[in-house]
Amino acid sequence: VRVEDKLFQNRYLVDAGRCHIKVRPHTTPTPALKALLTACPARCYELNATGQVEIAADGCVECGTCRIIGEPSGDIEWNYPRGGYGVLFKFG
Ligand code: SF4
Repeated sequence: VRVEDKLFQNRYLVDAGRCHIKVRPHTTPTPALKALLTACPARCYELNATGQVEIAADGCVECGTCRIIGEPSGDIEWNYPRGGYGVLFKFG
C-alpha cells in the first residue's frame, strides 16, 4: 500500500487563513528547509518559482517531523491547529 493511498483516507478541516505552520521568510533555503522538501510524509513543503520553500499545510497529518527539523533553528514556527481543525484520522 502506498503512503499516498493511506493519506487519502484522512479527512481535514482547514482553518482558512490561519495556517498552523509558518516558514520564516528567506531568500535561499537553509539546509533544514531543504530537508523539509523530502522529510514531510504528506509533501506539504515545496519550492516556489523563485526558489523559496513554501508550505501548504492543508494535508498535514501533524506528525511533527518538520517541527523537529525546522523549529530549533527558527526556520519554521509550528503550532497545533485550533481545536476542531486539522487532520481527522478515519482509522485511529
Ligand atoms: Fe508534514 Fe508532518 Fe510537518 Fe505536517 S507535521 S507539515 S505532515 S512533516
